[in-house]
Amino acid sequence: MKYYIKTFGCQMNERDSEKVEGILFKNNHQRVDNPEEADLIIVNSCAVREKAENKLYSEIGRLRFKNKRAKIVAMGCVAQINYERLKNIADIVVGTNTIDMFYSIAREWPHDKVFIKPNMEDPDHIFPHLTSVSAYVDIMYGCDNFCTYCIVPFTRGREVSRKKEAIIDEIKRLVDKGTKEVMLLGQNVNSYGKNFDYGFVDLLYEVNKIDGLERIRFTTSHPKDFSKELIYAMRDLEKVCEHIHLPIQSGSNKILKLMKRKYTKEEYLEKVYLYKEIVKDGSITTDIIVGFPQETEKDFEETLKILEEVRYDTSFSFKYSKRPFTKAKDMDGQVPEEEKLRRLNILQDLQAKITQEKLKNYEGKVTEVLIEGISKKGNQFFGRNRQNIVVNLDFMDNIKVGDVVRVEITKALKHSLLGKPI
Ligand code: SF4
Repeated sequence: MKYYIKTFGCQMNERDSEKVEGILFKNNHQRVDNPEEADLIIVNSCAVREKAENKLYSEIGRLRFKNKRAKIVAMGCVAQINYERLKNIADIVVGTNTIDMFYSIAREWPHDKVFIKPNMEDPDHIFPHLTSVSAYVDIMYGCDNFCTYCIVPFTRGREVSRKKEAIIDEIKRLVDKGTKEVMLLGQNVNSYGKNFDYGFVDLLYEVNKIDGLERIRFTTSHPKDFSKELIYAMRDLEKVCEHIHLPIQSGSNKILKLMKRKYTKEEYLEKVYLYKEIVKDGSITTDIIVGFPQETEKDFEETLKILEEVRYDTSFSFKYSKRPFTKAKDMDGQVPEEEKLRRLNILQDLQAKITQEKLKNYEGKVTEVLIEGISKKGNQFFGRNRQNIVVNLDFMDNIKVGDVVRVEITKALKHSLLGKPI
């Protein structure tokens, strides 16, 4: 069978799509890049914003029009919450906690149409990976935080951690196949292991011992649970990269409270300063929502101030989007769309300036890059340094994908760096 897969959304969705591909590949099915050639079309959906959700419906319509013969599977976050609508336009609907259904789909077309479970029932199951230098590894599923804007606890279910042994086993298997870097994934990795007698920092110490593994990254860290212990572990564990993604969401304490983020901007900044002091050359990135209900110009300016104060390497910023099931959708003081857009543009312009200044600082300096692949044009290698910044470099005969090389940076581009190996 030939399959085509399209993925929307975050790293969790990317990893879920990879699991599906791993299952299909193991069962001798072949991936195609043109949906018209496929017997099976899979669309992995994102529900985090209304726009992303609407994209799914139009994408399924477009793919159905292009290839009337193929069966279509809708999976992911929209499938989890909106399966009633999707079952009318897709042939099968698979939720976020039922990826194992693809073992059946790979062998025989199932009789049932909808496969949804509220929570992950077997978190320790090891799904196949595709071979890669840098691999995602789930360490936990779901979220218990219920931030008032966020649909994730409804699309991914309650928080459940995988056992340390299953994670270590999975990483060792990856390293045997050539993986050099792992990205440990969870909605809130700092609350990993709530029901165990070990936590996220203990897990990092164990992963750090794996021979052949070069780098460890993790995402996402909730600021309320980002601990001193973790900051010191980032300093002490040589494989843990010097990068933290710490979503602030807003610089206004009033808005943070309405969002139910459970930290103040002062508490957040205290942790950022400790991180900057302890983790040498550490980079920091964040997520920001503008135009949350009741956000005034003054609240927005406080967010801009945080940007100036922390000087993030990058920020991922979005207009607030009303999502079903969430508390914020019914809050008073919804901000008009054009005002959200105005604020977003101001914020993104400021971030672009800071990003450019920070990238410029690399010019003339040497940085360590893990080579992950060959650029689209085919004339350069690309990889990332320990701070998670993309670096492009010219080919050299003695360098190959998977190597860690020292690179002198010759130029800062808009979002990445250009350099030459030394
Ligand atoms: S911590 Fe908050 S923003 Fe993150 S996934 Fe959980 S509910 Fe959503």
